[in-house]
Amino acid sequence: LTLHRPQQVCVLGSTGSIGTNTLDVIARHPDRYRVFALSAMSRVDELLAQCLAHAPRFAVLPDAGLAAQLRAGLREAGSRTEVLDGMAALSEIAAHPEVDAVMAAIVGAAGLSPAIAAARAGKRLLLANKEAIVLGGALFMRAVEEGGATLLPVDSEHSAIFQCLPEDRSTWHQRIDHLVLTASGGPFRQRDPSTLADVTPEQACAHPNWVMGRKISVDSATMMNKALEVIEARWLFNLRPEQIKVLIHPQSIVHSMVVCRDHSVLAQLGTPDMRVPIAYALSFPERIESGAGMLDLLAAPNLAFEEADKRRFPGLHLSWQALRAAEGSTAVLNAANEEAVAAFLDHRLRFDQICQVNREALESVAPQSGDVDSVAGLLALDARARRHAQALIAAFAATV
Ligand code: NAD
Ligand code: MG
Repeated sequence: LTLHRPQQVCVLGSTGSIGTNTLDVIARHPDRYRVFALSAMSRVDELLAQCLAHAPRFAVLPDAGLAAQLRAGLREAGSRTEVLDGMAALSEIAAHPEVDAVMAAIVGAAGLSPAIAAARAGKRLLLANKEAIVLGGALFMRAVEEGGATLLPVDSEHSAIFQCLPEDRSTWHQRIDHLVLTASGGPFRQRDPSTLADVTPEQACAHPNWVMGRKISVDSATMMNKALEVIEARWLFNLRPEQIKVLIHPQSIVHSMVVCRDHSVLAQLGTPDMRVPIAYALSFPERIESGAGMLDLLAAPNLAFEEADKRRFPGLHLSWQALRAAEGSTAVLNAANEEAVAAFLDHRLRFDQICQVNREALESVAPQSGDVDSVAGLLALDARARRHAQALIAAFAATV
């Protein structure tokens, strides 16, 4: 038995679905993990309650007004947590010398800079924020390598694949023939495709198997989530686009598969509970109690697999299209999708128009040389793609 000091964990996006699940796992292991910093965009009361429960050194709210509100609440409660504001503070706490592990659970491109900061500082980087790696691409992976960071997937599919692979990454390339990412198919797997124009945000956010943030819930309904995951897998496992395949598996029990060169198929199974991949990313290469229920295969004996219908899910193949196009195209796809999803949630765009905006932006916004060489370049490309997507969204609105 070895005695270690507890790992100091920074949870970026702590009030979200992944953030709260992360704090749930951490609270089960006070001997192993301490919360060093928490961050959120809004929901001051929830962040305040988290600060009182976990007593972090720092809490970050980018907005100065909300930060002042949190500061006052903490002072009143006698807490010693220090409150920081501004977006730059997210990168500061992610790279803080006393931090061991960073949970990157901010949603969207806003999470790129802090995730890169954690990577460059050589942290154990628990990556839930798939948009950051889709936007960051090769630059993101270089930051991990140059910083000596340990990148651990939290997305359930990528965690499943990671769990099926040996610890020694240098053997991965030799043994993988291809990957099969499983997809639940979301709430509209069986809905008449001709009625997808009528989908409301509430219907899109009612996922059959997982409770998640609104953005990823809409992405699951369009299957843009799986498109982003194909791109994420390309970078995490250093594969060619054609080595990544997708199958619909409505039960969400097989979380993904590795098909090896000898055609042996390795799969990871479990109940749909994000605390399993979160716990594995926290404890790798060990295993710890996660709080997830035990899988009862007799209660769910029929594991089904089917092809994703192109008419129902036109966004899925945009991932391979973007991966084969100029470097930076995946950043364009991600930016357009973030804008389209926000517009849909805001009732400014129809559900079936989300993938139209994404395709049109992908085909029109050309990455320029230099865009992919720095975080600033990527964020400029991201901004260009967003402006283009916003114009498309406005044009759609004008034709209603
Ligand atoms: P969520 O909306 O529930 O939470 C997002 C968190 O990020 C919140 O704490 C919010 O305050 C913070 N945030 C939002 N915008 C921000 C900004 N601009 N700057 C700083 N902080 C900001 O989202 P979620 O479902 O927890 O997902 C988080 C990430 O994890 C996403 O990238 C998602 O794709 C990924 N992911 C989630 C799940 C899941 O089960 N929820 C599964 C796999 C991957
Ligand atoms: Mg996933």
